[in-house]
Amino acid sequence: MGRVLLISANTEKRPPVFPLGLSYIHASLVASGWEAGMLDMTQLEYTREAVTNYLNAYAPDYIGLSIRNLDNCCMQYPRSFVDQVCLMVDWVREWNSRASIILGGAGFSLLPRQWLQETGADYGIVGDGCDSIVELLSQLEAGQVPSAVSGLMFRTRAGEWNYWSPYAPEQLDQEYYPSRSGFLHSYDVDRRVRHNVLTKRGCALSCTYCAYPSLEGRAVRLRSPKGVADEIEQMVVQYDIDSFDFVDSVFNYPLEHAEEICRELIGRTLPLSWGCFLNPRFFTAEFAGLLKQAGCREVEFGIDSGSDICLRSFKKNFRQAEIRSVVQLCRDQALDFSFCLLIGGPEETSETLHETLDLMEELAVQRIFGLFGIRILPSTDMYSYAGSPEPDELLHPKFFMSPQLSLEQANSICAPYRERNPDWMFI
Ligand code: SF4
Repeated sequence: MGRVLLISANTEKRPPVFPLGLSYIHASLVASGWEAGMLDMTQLEYTREAVTNYLNAYAPDYIGLSIRNLDNCCMQYPRSFVDQVCLMVDWVREWNSRASIILGGAGFSLLPRQWLQETGADYGIVGDGCDSIVELLSQLEAGQVPSAVSGLMFRTRAGEWNYWSPYAPEQLDQEYYPSRSGFLHSYDVDRRVRHNVLTKRGCALSCTYCAYPSLEGRAVRLRSPKGVADEIEQMVVQYDIDSFDFVDSVFNYPLEHAEEICRELIGRTLPLSWGCFLNPRFFTAEFAGLLKQAGCREVEFGIDSGSDICLRSFKKNFRQAEIRSVVQLCRDQALDFSFCLLIGGPEETSETLHETLDLMEELAVQRIFGLFGIRILPSTDMYSYAGSPEPDELLHPKFFMSPQLSLEQANSICAPYRERNPDWMFI
């Protein structure tokens, strides 16, 4: 069997986020008998020399390159990640032109054909990828032209595109957990990574700008609460990791599943400190209490707006009344919380923005993270609303901003609120 090097191309360091998808792929390969190592580029210098040193030392036959995002999703200061991924592919090619390069990850899955064209990589896997990578490498190792692999895309020598739609496995409880070790480098203490855990895949909600349901499916697929707690217990006991985030799109949907996970964690009496992303619609007093008891220290609500007009236009499943309610419930449990805002959606005006920010001040929300503009992504309502731009254009930063509110106006409306509230951030 050949040797596999998996590289997470993500370099965002505020804070560096553990490459969970890559570590699932690593665990799947190791469980199938492959020798595999990982590099996390948040922990290394992004230079040819650094990468080539690892390539020389490890001498892989296959290189898996994980692409987490297309760009930094920031309309004011956009930064595309395309060039840095292309550079990485070039460095690998220059090191050994015969090593197969396979792309994957959420950012790749959004625009797979465009990524393969732009980078010149050999193959790409759309979707979960854990079973597909094993199947693809087995076929390559046997000298076959790959075929019928879930989510696989590549261009033949004749220039034809081959693609097999990804199959979303129902069963998420595997014999393995994502690899927390297996990196070829140590983790620098100054670049302390934020660990993460996944309890489900898919999202049943329909927010107009979000590509997540098209990436992971509209049917929510759940891990067993016991399996989730077992993984966390292993993280604590084996790796001394007691601080992490649940990185499900919505931790508290279905609510009973999240409650059951909390009960499992409470039963284990582990010294935990964790965070999660929540939807205000599925937040109750009982659940807030369970979160607190289970070691949850901070929760983040992706409310997007405080104006019912905007919430309706984003197709959010809650309104201002629920936002008011979660603030009270969090305070009752002394649970730290923050709100994320998306400024500039289709119905946004100076009035709706003032309404949102006034509500945040009225509720004395301490931490707010506001993003100007809506990143246009394929397979979303926003994509059609924005006139269905050519998919090739979307590989580079492209944003929607309400025709009734310019970026400059939005900035100047937010400025005095930011001055009065030092922990509110708008970018
Ligand atoms: S924004 Fe969150 S809740 Fe809405 S569709 Fe996307 S993943 Fe689901």
